[in-house]
Amino acid sequence: MTTAAHRTTFDSLNPRTGDVVATYPVHTADDVALAVARAREAADWWVEIGFEGRKEQLNRWKGVITRRINQLAQIVHDETGKPHGDALLEAVLGIDHLAWAASHARKVLGTRRVSPGLIMANQAATLRYHPLGVVGVIGPWNYPVFTPMGSIAYALAAGNAVVFKPSEYTPGVGAWLASTFEEAVGRPVLQVVTGLGPTGAALCTSGVNKVAFTGSTATGKRVMAACAETLTPVVIEAGGKDAFIVDADADLDAAADAAAWGSFANAGQTCVGVERIYVHKDVYDPFLEKLVAKALSLTANDSDDAQIGPITMPSQLGIIKRHIDDAIARGGRAVVGGPDAVGERWVQPTVLVDVPEDSVAVTEETFGPTVTVARVDSMDDAVEKANATRYALAATVFSKRHGVEIADRVRSGMAAVNGIITFAGVPTLPFGGVGESGFGRIHGPDGLREFTYAKSITRQRMKPLLALTTFARTKTAESQLTQLMTLLHGRGGTIDPK
Ligand code: NDP
Repeated sequence: MTTAAHRTTFDSLNPRTGDVVATYPVHTADDVALAVARAREAADWWVEIGFEGRKEQLNRWKGVITRRINQLAQIVHDETGKPHGDALLEAVLGIDHLAWAASHARKVLGTRRVSPGLIMANQAATLRYHPLGVVGVIGPWNYPVFTPMGSIAYALAAGNAVVFKPSEYTPGVGAWLASTFEEAVGRPVLQVVTGLGPTGAALCTSGVNKVAFTGSTATGKRVMAACAETLTPVVIEAGGKDAFIVDADADLDAAADAAAWGSFANAGQTCVGVERIYVHKDVYDPFLEKLVAKALSLTANDSDDAQIGPITMPSQLGIIKRHIDDAIARGGRAVVGGPDAVGERWVQPTVLVDVPEDSVAVTEETFGPTVTVARVDSMDDAVEKANATRYALAATVFSKRHGVEIADRVRSGMAAVNGIITFAGVPTLPFGGVGESGFGRIHGPDGLREFTYAKSITRQRMKPLLALTTFARTKTAESQLTQLMTLLHGRGGTIDPK
């Protein structure tokens, strides 16, 4: 049944053709509750087998995914429309993160002794990170392997079970991940629930111990509100409006190549894609010329050699058109593409210049193969404009001498210098945003800790030198404590009596 509010199934469509790829169940709140209950049971075993056992199981899953990587890439291609090669690259990154999480969980989360400090010198202090239980992962369609894997792999490696709700546009990718996991591990430690928004909403209120959400800022706010009811913690990986800065000393060929990839790859449907470019006035004209040449060499269509696929979510076409129209109505110019670039399924690369900084093409996430290019007087000017946004996900800087320094001044969770989106491929580095791009981190040690709670234990090794936490505390002990504190902390910031 596929009508009205009580659908029991839904179709996954190929955005290139509109053909049905496959049909999936719309899981209800009861189905979600059942999956969470099964996951909770499986979590006991998952915890029991410890870091080494989980590493072995996750490596087995990794082997299955790797051996069938072309099959996975084909499903991603069918459901998102992105070129097969791009789908392959995404799967490679996902596998690399799975490998890293599996092999580093013990080192990051295992029991470690920490210094108790001088006042508590008689204590042995240990810290370890316990799994939360069951983690609900809600994913988007634009990188249906790489993005949820950033939560799934790290949550699993940390000892949690996972119930995953993929986007309604990419349920097949989610189902494939869960079925290969089942094949490799044989226990329902990772399960998938399919459906539309309400299935995701049901996961938020199902009693999971944390929700890892990746998607738009607007839905992220709804997820957070739903989770607030039960004080369920959340990670929010939301949208962006990332800036790309070109300094006067940049390698312009490399910068134009990277800017074109960052803006147009995956048809611009990348959370850390380039949406705004700020170029030093001294190199603006040659940079723009090179970017235009790159953009003109790219095509978005159904042929096998096209570098750009279709817009996956049909409703996005209207948003992209509105942003281009508004930019032009406000005095901007399209030097490549323009309003006619927006077709019924494909959008041709579009480069907009002279666009006012307060137009929607500069302030809102466009999520299409379009980019604005603006001239700036200095790198201070570039940083100020880059930071004038409610989003703050990632950034790119091209500069020979001051790249890292400029990147550090841009308010964003991640930055790439003289490269593009490179931080996403370094498993050791945390991934996430600030502001309306969200909070919390996936990837790296922070990404593992995100799915745990810290457990601190002190164990008395010998009697304290000063008995302080007892009603038998003496005046002498208090005075010795004062002397000790003066010795330890009393020297800084003395005030000149004059
Ligand atoms: P959406 O916000 O539309 O959906 C994301 C997920 O949330 C989907 O699985 C969706 O299900 C589900 N959902 C919808 N409504 C609810 C609800 N009320 N409660 C719980 N879950 C719900 O995002 P898109 O899928 O369109 O993804 C694109 C967005 O994701 C862009 O803004 C992009 O920037 C962002 N993104 C951010 C990344 C990051 O790491 N920061 C990475 C990748 C993308 P359904 O599809 O069935 O509606």
